[in-house]
Order: sequence, then structure tokens, then C-alpha cells
Amino acid sequence: MKINSHISSLPGSYLFQEIASRIKTFEQENPKADILRLGIGDVTRPLSPYVAEKFASAARDMATAEGFRGYPPGEGYHFLIDAINKNDYAARGIALQDSEIFISDGAKTDAAAIQELFDKDCRIAFTDPVYPVYVDSNAMAGRLGTFENGRWCNAVYLPSTAENGFVPPLPEEKVDVLYLCYPNNPTGTVLTKAQLKPFVDWARENNALIIYDAAYKAFITDEDIPRSIYEIEGAKEVAIECCSFSKTAGFTGVRCAYTVVPHQVTGRDNSGKEVSLNALWKRRTGSKNNGVSYPVQVAAAAVYDEQGRKETEETIRYYLDNARVILDALKQGGLTVYGGVHAPYIWMKTPDNMKSWDFFDYLLRNAHVVGTPGAGFGPCGEGYFRLTAFGSRETAQQASGRILNMLSK
Ligand code: PLP
Repeated sequence: MKINSHISSLPGSYLFQEIASRIKTFEQENPKADILRLGIGDVTRPLSPYVAEKFASAARDMATAEGFRGYPPGEGYHFLIDAINKNDYAARGIALQDSEIFISDGAKTDAAAIQELFDKDCRIAFTDPVYPVYVDSNAMAGRLGTFENGRWCNAVYLPSTAENGFVPPLPEEKVDVLYLCYPNNPTGTVLTKAQLKPFVDWARENNALIIYDAAYKAFITDEDIPRSIYEIEGAKEVAIECCSFSKTAGFTGVRCAYTVVPHQVTGRDNSGKEVSLNALWKRRTGSKNNGVSYPVQVAAAAVYDEQGRKETEETIRYYLDNARVILDALKQGGLTVYGGVHAPYIWMKTPDNMKSWDFFDYLLRNAHVVGTPGAGFGPCGEGYFRLTAFGSRETAQQASGRILNMLSK
């Protein structure tokens, strides 16, 4: 049989596989090294006890005749959709219908699958650097052409660098879909409402669609920074928003997320007829998914209860304090650092303009600290390095100390 060559011709291995393989080689050569990991963006703190108890209790219900449930509704249980709508949207003055919210097992799942709604010839724009899932999923669908000199020839890259203050320019050429992620992975930077508005206006003027990934919105601590793109006027006509309980509530191993597809967002089919993307997403998801388990959805809804909220917010504060520890130490050491204030990611300029993979190896060998090379997130990530605040306070302190020590030699 003939395979999908768009997958086999993807460049290199997935970023984190390459990192894991380099660490493995180092560990084999240095079995006694105590490696501190500030690399992968996985959480480490335990679930909120309140949320975990609701999770367990729902699982026990499933073992009773009255509480047993089979397939969940494809778009999610109403109790969770209602909690999301009230707490994440209505409370912020955003009016959504429950039928615009779809529960899923991950923002990665949805951010990767959403491109199934686009025509093969749609032109796609990404910020650069970028969370690789948006690019890879479009590349696998054959939408990005060939990969040459670190770039897909049919994709549009919008640089997001220190030079433009991490505010990417608007696309200058015809673009059908733009992926935005704020707070940003990997740079940890954010856009204010005033900085996000031109993107919404651009999409409305150009009949384009924005896929807005707000997976890190729980880390925002400033009211002027939008937690949802729908805080911007007109966004409900042009934006789909992906959110997740992974980073908000430590659900990376539990798996629950949601995507908002407003009824007003439309595209055109081959005959020029206007089609609702909500209807399209519902149709596609109904055919491909059987939903998210009942105990997981009960656990997610518990995040909005007073006690669940209190406990999950404490964890977010813990990570943000870690980020501050790393930021302060690196700044003190004279390094140039970005992000880390409304996000769990710190984006540092590599010292002496080192290439980011060279700095990865240098840091691993000399400080036994693992981070993520910026170049793994796109051409404009070259010369940068990502550190994450998801470890323990001790790891944050020790790792920053080791980096400073290494650089002072
Ligand atoms: N979106 C972004 C920007 C991420 O960085 C991540 C995970 O690191 C995800 C989505 C994945 O979310 P989930 O765990 O819900 O699949």
C-alpha cells in the first residue's frame, strides 16, 4: 500500500524525542550526573485533593447500577459545558451558547484536528517560533508544500522576536487561517487587548479564521491581558478558541479540554455556499470521537467549585513563583530573558549568540540542566532557549544557580 508521504517526509523527529535521545546518550556516558529538567512542559504538582476526590467519587458511581454511564454525549456532558460557560465566559462578559462549547480529551487533539475543516489549498500562517502541533498537523495533511531550509514553502511565518517585542506582524499576503497562542508557548509572552485587536480586525477584513490557543490562560494575572480572544469585539465572527484543563488544573495525565466554535464563524464550500464551522466541527467530531469519560468530566467541573478553584489557583501561583525565581536569577546573571510573568515559560537569549542546540548540549554537559532549544520551535527560535517553571521550587533554584555558576566560569 502507498503511505501518506506527508508524514514520512516530516523533518527530524518530534522535538521532545530528540531531546530525550540526547539526554539518554548523556546519561549513558555520565550515569552519576544529577540532571535537573526544565525542558518538557509537563506539570509536576499533584491534583487538587478536592478535584481528585470528585474524580474518584464519580469513578465509584460508575460501579453502581444507578450511577453507571456508558458513552458520554459526543460534545460533552451539559454539567461541564454549563460550568465552563458560566465561569470562563459569562463571568467575563462573554455571551456564548452552550452548543458552541465542545469537550475533548486535549487541546493538542483539537488544535491538531481543527485543520480537517480547512480546504487543502488554504494558506496557513503561524507565528515563529510556534507550538509545533499547528505546523505538523497541517504538514501531515499536505497543506504546507515541501520543507526547505527550515521552512515549509507554502506556509506563512510571522516572526515573533525581541526585535518586534514578540508582537508578530499582520500577514501581508493572502492568508486563510492564522494560529495564535497566548500566553505563548514557547516565548511565555502575552498580547494585551490592544495588541490582539488588530489581528481580529485583520481576520474580519480578510475573511480569515483565527485559531486561538489559550491553554495557558490560567497564568494571566493582569486584567488588561485577555484570557479569551472573545474579549475582543468581533472575535466571535472569526475565531475558534482551544482551552485545556492540563495547565489550569494539572490535568496533563487526566485529559480534558474544550474548544469553542461560535455559530457565527463560517467558511465557504466548493459551490461558494456559506457553511457554519460549528456544524462542520460537530459533524466531524461526532464521526470520529466517542467523548471524554464521565469521571474526568466530573473532575473538570470540580475545578470551578470554590474549593477546587482555590486549590488549583494555589498551584498556578506556585509555578508562577518558580518562574519569578528563574527570571530574577537569570537577569541577575546578566542574561536577557522574556516571558515568565503571565506564563510558565521563560525565553532566554542564548549567551554569546550560541546556536540553541549548541547551548542545549553545553548546558547539559556543564550544568546538568535540560531546557528546550528555541530552534525546535521554528527558524526565529534560533538563538533562544526555553526554560519551564513546572518543576519544584528546589529545581528552579538549583537549576538557575547552576546556570549562573556555569556562565561565570
Ligand atoms: N496548546 C499548547 C500551546 C501547549 O503548549 C500544550 C501542551 O504543552 C497543549 C496545547 C496541549 O494541551 P493538552 O494537554 O490539553 O492536549
